[in-house]
Amino acid sequence: MDLSTSMRTHMCGLVSPADVGSVVSVCGWVDRRREHGEHLVFIDLRDHTGVVQCVVGQNHDLRSEYVVQMTGEVRERPAGTANPELASGEIEIEVREVEVLSAAEPPPFPLDERTEVDETIRLRHRYVDLRKARLQRNLRIRARVNSAIRRGMESQGFIEVETPMLVASTPEGARDFVVPSRKEPGSFYALPQSPQLFKQLCMVGGVDRYYQIARCLRDEDLRADRQFEFMQLDAEASFVGQQDVFEFISAAVAEATEAVTGVRPREFPRISWIDAMERYGSDKPDVRFGMELVELTEIFAGTEARVFQAPCVKGICMPGGTEALSRNQVDSLVETCRRWGAKGLAWMKVAQRDSSAVLDAGVAKFLSAEESAAVISALGASAGDMVFLVADERRLVRHVLGLLRLELGRPPVNEGGLHYLWVVDFPLFEGFAADGSPLPAHHPFTMPHLDDLDLLGEGGEALLGVRSQAYDLVLNGWELGSGSVRIHRRDIQNQVFACLGIEPAEAQRKFGFLLDAFGYGAPPHAGFAFGIDRLTALLAGESNIREVIAFPKTQSGADPLTNAPSPIDGAHLRELGLRAPR
Ligand code: ASP
Repeated sequence: MDLSTSMRTHMCGLVSPADVGSVVSVCGWVDRRREHGEHLVFIDLRDHTGVVQCVVGQNHDLRSEYVVQMTGEVRERPAGTANPELASGEIEIEVREVEVLSAAEPPPFPLDERTEVDETIRLRHRYVDLRKARLQRNLRIRARVNSAIRRGMESQGFIEVETPMLVASTPEGARDFVVPSRKEPGSFYALPQSPQLFKQLCMVGGVDRYYQIARCLRDEDLRADRQFEFMQLDAEASFVGQQDVFEFISAAVAEATEAVTGVRPREFPRISWIDAMERYGSDKPDVRFGMELVELTEIFAGTEARVFQAPCVKGICMPGGTEALSRNQVDSLVETCRRWGAKGLAWMKVAQRDSSAVLDAGVAKFLSAEESAAVISALGASAGDMVFLVADERRLVRHVLGLLRLELGRPPVNEGGLHYLWVVDFPLFEGFAADGSPLPAHHPFTMPHLDDLDLLGEGGEALLGVRSQAYDLVLNGWELGSGSVRIHRRDIQNQVFACLGIEPAEAQRKFGFLLDAFGYGAPPHAGFAFGIDRLTALLAGESNIREVIAFPKTQSGADPLTNAPSPIDGAHLRELGLRAPR
């Protein structure tokens, strides 16, 4: 694309040997300056495409990060001085005219990629930080992801509809950010946790296929993969089932992936939630590596060994683990598993005796010969491996071994390729709250599996067996997003509310507008949303989403650049009917 303007003919990084002999103008920031005597200064001039070496004869006052325009003739670099690391490494500009467009203070930190800079300082001067090649690259990847998603959705007939930012509380289950109303002191808007209810109303409104690249706000503790505000591709369609949604979303994700990596992923395999939990101990399995959880309960059904007398025994096998792990490391893994809630972690080495693999050391001596042999064969272990077993309640075993598996085998974020995975058949409820009411695994508008409607009626523990028509999309162990087939029938919706302990009056007060809407002709509908920050981070090979967000908040939710959040003055507070805490 031609990016020339009235001030420049070329981008710095794109001046090439083909331009030798022509006069060019480039504009940018002084990246580096090297002096070779009083009358010879080399300036690396930088824009987002890279740097170009400019040879300036006279001693201009050009310091780091000055913004300048240079005009001169392109020539080949003298023999032996070419820089193969730079796209423009074979040429330089013999500068005839220099114009300082803007002088600059010395930068608050070096802009090279090697220096580690404290994050608060980076964020306070994010405009300087953004000049780094890594962030420029990431922002451009992000822009490509956004436009590919738009293309992907629009080519399937989805239209972009914008939903409001000032809303009543939405049901994603996180804490709301609220905005006080000046007109109605004491009343508040919520900022949307997602456009969930509006997109469903769009379906009742006949939109048929809606999407939006939506900003969502949730007041939750921040982590590497979570910010207060984040962007998601939000989508909903009418007269569809689960399969249709998989196709729509996989196509958009494939489009985005191809736009960044050049390769279109063909496979979006599926796994049921229960399989994911049993085999990986996680509802967001990282399938870039093996080390699956193996069921050993049967083997220990009549065991003499006290440690394995438990409702569930599972194990994992770490190939080459006896060499890779020191005794200290093993001890600290045991401690870590205790912190995760296990009573203990049984470990054994796999050794070679005669011509067969045997369990050795650790708790090996407590196992009978048959148990040992059965464990080795179930885990497919061979000499040099290390095996780890946990015996406890099933949920706990899965949880602890799932975390241990990641701890021992998870590759770095930018290795092992991109493995998308649909996780299907989530349970409708994920457990019970302190007051005994079940907790929805997704949100209360998720359609139960129609075969499980009877269980829904039973209540109690049986509720945990109710499957839902909810699904997640997972990439390399990160939950990219979730969605579900929605309830569009008032009777089922009321039944689910009743299970959740939401009284009809409360349901009416909170979601009455949606229930009313359903009374006016609701098409069956389903939808999905996935996080664009997360997808972009993984495509860019970044482990922290802050690296793909132009202006992120710190881990504690502050913005060191603008000083948000900050107090507002008394008059403003009074106008809103608020008082500052003392
Ligand atoms: N509203 C859901 C979320 O933001 C996604 C969906 O069910 O479509 O997680």
